[in-house]
Amino acid sequence: MSRFLREAYQSLEVYVPGEQPRDKKYIKLNTNESPFPPSPQVLEAVAKEAGDLQLYSDPECTLLRKTAAELFGIQPENVFCGNGSDEVLNFAFSAFCDEKKGMAFPSISYGFYPVYGDLYGLDCTPIPLKDDFSIDSADYCNLHKNIVIANPNAPTGMLLTIGQIRTILDTNRDNLVIIDEAYVDFGGKSCLPLIAEYDNLLVVQTFSKSRSLAGARLGFGFAQPEIIADLNRVKYSTNPYNINRCTLAAGVAALRSQDYYDRNCRAIIENRAYTTDALRALGFEVLPSSANFIFARHPQISGETLYRTLKDMGILVRYFSREEIAAFVRITIGSMEQMRALIRAIQTILAGGGN
Ligand code: PMP
Repeated sequence: MSRFLREAYQSLEVYVPGEQPRDKKYIKLNTNESPFPPSPQVLEAVAKEAGDLQLYSDPECTLLRKTAAELFGIQPENVFCGNGSDEVLNFAFSAFCDEKKGMAFPSISYGFYPVYGDLYGLDCTPIPLKDDFSIDSADYCNLHKNIVIANPNAPTGMLLTIGQIRTILDTNRDNLVIIDEAYVDFGGKSCLPLIAEYDNLLVVQTFSKSRSLAGARLGFGFAQPEIIADLNRVKYSTNPYNINRCTLAAGVAALRSQDYYDRNCRAIIENRAYTTDALRALGFEVLPSSANFIFARHPQISGETLYRTLKDMGILVRYFSREEIAAFVRITIGSMEQMRALIRAIQTILAGGGN
């Protein structure tokens, strides 16, 4: 830390991203990326766009917003594009929260929410999950704070119903409710159609998971035009060209390759069912997941030990040191071949043969 760092940042606890090791080739099941490459149309569009990289990108993301609006049945004025959904969330915390209005979120959820809260000096309220790790929607009614909920939640993979989200929206008319749908394409139901009815709803999605574009950094915010205009205020006060040309082109081509991505999502859902069944047969408790990952624990092995042993065997998963979930590992659902390799490795470990 230099002596120039502003005082408020000196005690920041930063977000720690999952490992992206370069030392050897792992079966990488730790950061919820897609095992499938971007569609051929995306690869072609990016290669073509690269020839124009000497020019700034379109700050209004005109074509991308128009294409997304057409596909989702909304207007371009309802669409905000971010450099990953992390940026959309960041702008939302910055635009809509202050000393008076902090943020409430599940105590076990995406690790970035408290980090943004800290960055902006907000009064944050982590709300505990139920004993079965689900979110109790009643805990979010009539709050005096903005709310962010990942649906499905991470790292549990568990869903709230649209009815439960409606109740939260109805009982918080003066609070912004952000529904982070990073994993919604793997079996959840999007509440995007609700933006027409609720001026207090911001739906956040990402192309990092179901659209195989984690490395391109593309996320979306969907809401009524006033909310989108507020996000643009922050964007035009920080980084107007927030989406680069290749990512804009990739996003448009991805939206036009919906069949390809739908097929990939169906494959992930099948592989998730296979992996869940196989782990349960080995004595694991696996939470019911609607995401491209599962959260699982075994009575005989801690999350950290399983993580370390699998890593030595060339397979990366994620564990969290927080006491309430220290027994679990979070496993990204990959290709069938990767999942079979994982199950074989876990069989070896449980038989006492892990190295
Ligand atoms: N929300 C949730 C719940 C996530 O797990 C992630 C992925 N780390 C994100 C948002 C951010 O994803 P990205 O910035 O890649 O769009």
